[in-house]
Amino acid sequence: MSKPVLLQMFPEELAQWFKEQGQPAFRAKQVFGWLHKGAGFDQMSNLPLALREQMAEQAAANPIDIISRHRSQKEDTVKLLFSLADGHCVEGVLMRYRYGVTLCLSTQVGCRMGCSFCASTLEGLARNLTAGEMMGMVLLANGELPADERAHNIVLMGSGEPFDNYDEVVRFLRLVSHPEGLNIGLRHISLSTCGLTEQIRRFAMEGLPVTLSVSLHAPDDQIRAQMMPVARAWPMDALLDACRYYIAQTGRRVVFEYALVDGVNNQSEHARALAARLRGMQCHVNLIPLNHVPERQLRGVTRTQADAFLKELETLHISATLRREMGDDIAGACGQLRRRHLKKGADASLAVALDSTGEDTV
Ligand code: SAH
Repeated sequence: MSKPVLLQMFPEELAQWFKEQGQPAFRAKQVFGWLHKGAGFDQMSNLPLALREQMAEQAAANPIDIISRHRSQKEDTVKLLFSLADGHCVEGVLMRYRYGVTLCLSTQVGCRMGCSFCASTLEGLARNLTAGEMMGMVLLANGELPADERAHNIVLMGSGEPFDNYDEVVRFLRLVSHPEGLNIGLRHISLSTCGLTEQIRRFAMEGLPVTLSVSLHAPDDQIRAQMMPVARAWPMDALLDACRYYIAQTGRRVVFEYALVDGVNNQSEHARALAARLRGMQCHVNLIPLNHVPERQLRGVTRTQADAFLKELETLHISATLRREMGDDIAGACGQLRRRHLKKGADASLAVALDSTGEDTV
């Protein structure tokens, strides 16, 4: 049987575990603090040596590892490839902005949502990530930063659909924002969903006022269904109603993600239809030029086209921004790095492949 992962546990659960180990429950608070600083058992210097040894024997601290790091040349972006205990791998990205470092995390190995423009879903879903694994990635990613720095913002926008892994994602959000741990403010966390409408309503009641991003990508059901199978299960009216409910419950505005695809959703008529759908809603539109995925036939837009779409929305009084593309030279689009890794089959060849495209491995 595999060892229990302590990063998966809340302090109360850790206390129970210590009791079962014949140890006093007060150790839980100490160990929770240490674990969430990224310490290994041998670094927990205020614990007796015998206890540290017992823990190392009976439990796992961080269940994952970093396989490789890929630093983009033009942006301050580092893509990390993590290995899981069962041999799977997932991606995370550290992005440096003016206001601090943002960490983009995956929530599943692969994805089963089937969006037509996304690399994460090409091989389907392998499995869900656990909260402990997501915590492990945060701590390892922080370890990549200078000693006095850590990720201040977390975006669940890597591979996977967070609401298809609802319970573990909610546990992760409570762990990462825990006052005795990393204590990352929920307002500094964004969760992006392809639009699982029932779960948006459920999530509104969790008391976790994170920024909800919804991948809309289209102004109507017909176009949306071409891009996203989820649109066939949940029409836009129901989705937007659930978003209004989230706004009412949490007091937070919703961000709509809109990837511009040439000839599909980027015409002036689409901007007008989108503005009409969103009018009166406390929301913001985040335009993303489609990141090219070699396996997909879809084309992105030019900067001029993206600017024109942005201007049109602004003229219609819809709050919107154009996201700059970060890390597209390091396979920054969701799921691309993991796919390269799967295709190459080995770290060494991955490093060579990246080197040959002029990218740095750190
Ligand atoms: N499953 C969640 C989160 C993961 S993807 C969701 O669908 O929201 C994070 C964002 O990147 C989503 O808005 C997704 O639609 C978008 N995305 C995926 N592939 C992309 C690509 N090739 N170019 C631009 N955006 C992409």
